[in-house]
Amino acid sequence: MSGIIGIYSPNRTDTSQIAYYGLYALQHRGQASTGIAVNNNGFVDYHKEQGLVNEVFSKDIIDRLMGNIAIGHVRYASSQQSKEKSNVEPLVVGYRKGALALSLDGSIVNAKALRDELEDKGVIFQSTLDAEVIANLIARYHRDGLEEAIIEAIDAIKGSYSIVMMNANSLIAARDPHALRPMVLGRINNGYIIASETCAFDTIGAEFIRDINAGEMIVIDENGVSTVHEKKGKVSHCLFEFIYFARPDSQVDYRSIYTARIEIGRQLARESPVDGDIVIGAPDSGVVSAVGYAEQSKIPYRDGLIKNRYVGRTFIEPTQGLREQGVKIKLNVLKDNVNGKKVVLVDDSIVRGTTVKRIIDLLRNAGAKEVHVRVSSPPVRHSCYLGVDMPTNQHLMAAGKTVEEIRKELGADSLYYISLDGLRKAIGGDEGFCVGCFTGQYPVQGEMNL
Ligand code: AMP
Repeated sequence: MSGIIGIYSPNRTDTSQIAYYGLYALQHRGQASTGIAVNNNGFVDYHKEQGLVNEVFSKDIIDRLMGNIAIGHVRYASSQQSKEKSNVEPLVVGYRKGALALSLDGSIVNAKALRDELEDKGVIFQSTLDAEVIANLIARYHRDGLEEAIIEAIDAIKGSYSIVMMNANSLIAARDPHALRPMVLGRINNGYIIASETCAFDTIGAEFIRDINAGEMIVIDENGVSTVHEKKGKVSHCLFEFIYFARPDSQVDYRSIYTARIEIGRQLARESPVDGDIVIGAPDSGVVSAVGYAEQSKIPYRDGLIKNRYVGRTFIEPTQGLREQGVKIKLNVLKDNVNGKKVVLVDDSIVRGTTVKRIIDLLRNAGAKEVHVRVSSPPVRHSCYLGVDMPTNQHLMAAGKTVEEIRKELGADSLYYISLDGLRKAIGGDEGFCVGCFTGQYPVQGEMNL
């Protein structure tokens, strides 16, 4: 999972500033590393590093990065390898016709096969990035023009991808044929902007134009925006964007994430009512659905857990000894609200099960009489190889287990996961979603890239 941004301005050279604030708004899509590359009359400059956006960029760096085109990236890294410095994007490469920079959100399922093929032909790789495979394909196919080469490269890759690219005179964006990962187009001043989510537009005063379509490739240059290629497949937006990943103030694929989450909560209450005293949400992503559940069930919503906002990436896990002392660093319970109550706890998803188990224990220790867990997603039983970082199947709590077995393991009084049909209905459509992590049926055949 990653966040991407691209800016084209016909007459302004402060695009790195816009990229910076846009990436800041997209920080939730990745906290491991970030970078911005700019094009200044064909000369590409960049800065990228491991860390958060406000740690990596200083005012001096942003002031140095002058150019009328910029692209940027924030990376979520689950493996040690993906955290390495060589894997920080944007990727900037030189090819016959100059410099090319790429930022990718997604996962190319045939990247290994393509990489092997290129290595057999003598290509040397500097990173394990899928973006580098794409860059090498573009260099290899470059005969007549860049656009044609990118189209050939895109036709060769399979998987989920929202890509922004930049060369000396254009900003290029491409979205996979299933539109798995989000990508939107907006207007800023008299230029254009591409981003993973619309929350980036709001932050910087850009105006939303439209989503990039499934399989669409656009070029933005002095002539404006033009669609140069369409390779549409069966639209299969990632449901996890709606459940957990995207920011509630974003619009993804023409749907408000906030409204979708409220509706999910309402649907959960219809499907699985409880005789509870209060409804609480697991911070942060369970909170909006908890409000929906409370509205529908007429059970009052209360804050049950307070999260320390300042626990960040450098957070040192407490030792076992401190843990036994009951050190509560990330989350604390509002005891007055839960003591003696039958609590309905709404959580967005259960992946490994560690978080929700810890919350149930906290609530019980604070005196909750009953804890009823309601989950905004169906059981996650299959690991995702299309761009959502998840542990392998064996570490997924719901893999190979019944809901009753999970309930017992968690120590909840009751447990209910929203139905897949109910989830689709709440988001507003029977079709058009990837349900792979719930059913094992993915729109693209592949496997985990470990
Ligand atoms: P756990 O069950 O302990 O693995 O944590 C699940 C919680 O982490 C969910 O309630 C979400 O808030 C969040 N989450 C969901 N999906 C992911 C993911 N792919 N990567 C990281 N965190 C996630």
